[in-house]
Amino acid sequence: MRWRPSSTTQVEDRRGDGGLGGGLGGMRMGGLGGGGIPLPVGGGLGGIVLVIIVIVVMNLVGGGAGTTTGSLQGAPGGAIASLAPGDDQGQFINAVTVDVQTFWGDEFAAAGKSYPQTVLVLFTGSTQSGCGVASSRTGPFYCPSDQKVYLDGAFFDELHTRFGAPGDFAEAYVIAHEFGHHVQDVLGTMDQVAQKQQAGQDPGGANGLSVRLELQADCFAGVWASSIWASPDQANVESITDADVKEALGAAQSVGDDRIQQQATGTINKESWTHGSAEQRATWFNTGFKNGTIDGCDTFSGATL
Ligand SMILES: [Zn+2]
Repeated sequence: MRWRPSSTTQVEDRRGDGGLGGGLGGMRMGGLGGGGIPLPVGGGLGGIVLVIIVIVVMNLVGGGAGTTTGSLQGAPGGAIASLAPGDDQGQFINAVTVDVQTFWGDEFAAAGKSYPQTVLVLFTGSTQSGCGVASSRTGPFYCPSDQKVYLDGAFFDELHTRFGAPGDFAEAYVIAHEFGHHVQDVLGTMDQVAQKQQAGQDPGGANGLSVRLELQADCFAGVWASSIWASPDQANVESITDADVKEALGAAQSVGDDRIQQQATGTINKESWTHGSAEQRATWFNTGFKNGTIDGCDTFSGATL
């Protein structure tokens, strides 16, 4: 993969701002990966009314909690720095972000639509998002409430060591997947899914709406990769090779629900899938890569995926 730094900044660099320890005092919310919605203990089953604001957060991987509860208590104290990253990792993430969003901006414009550019919040440790506190345990995610992508730079080490998916284009795939959720948000797909879920029209599990949404984000990442392949030297990501595509496919597989479940518990339970299997994720990335069109990423119509 060849890339060059961008003069545009689309990364909100919050690394080194000390996380939330100072800003929020003792109000640690436990992050988003703490394992779901806490229920009150005791009091029997009757008469408990729970008012829970559930915010859907589109993570790269399942396993952690996809939801957080409660309302947020404002932004952390102090201004949030938004600087152009000067280090290699920051510049790389910024270059990919700019490239991905330039691509979608052009695609939308060609279809007579507008694509609102957003930012990737790069942090270390923890930071505030419109969907709750982002922590390194959360993994990369897109927050529909503030329309930003959140990424702890340390996740890429984890991608290498824990998920066994090294390489710069593996990292680029992760970023492109998250911006795929922004595309879905802009297109209204995310709202449609949320409405169906609220109406009880989601079968859940392996054929559920969450898996379909996630696989479409993988497909969109493939569509973006296809654009680099077809027209090299056009933007910040200048060119990719077969080896890069393999890296992305390997990364897509490495965060498949079956892989993660097998690693974590030794068993596979399709009923609790949220992102799709290793094979499905690689297949849909490849579908996007081969077709190169957003229309080729219809993960919602088929009975099976
Ligand atoms: Zn996702």
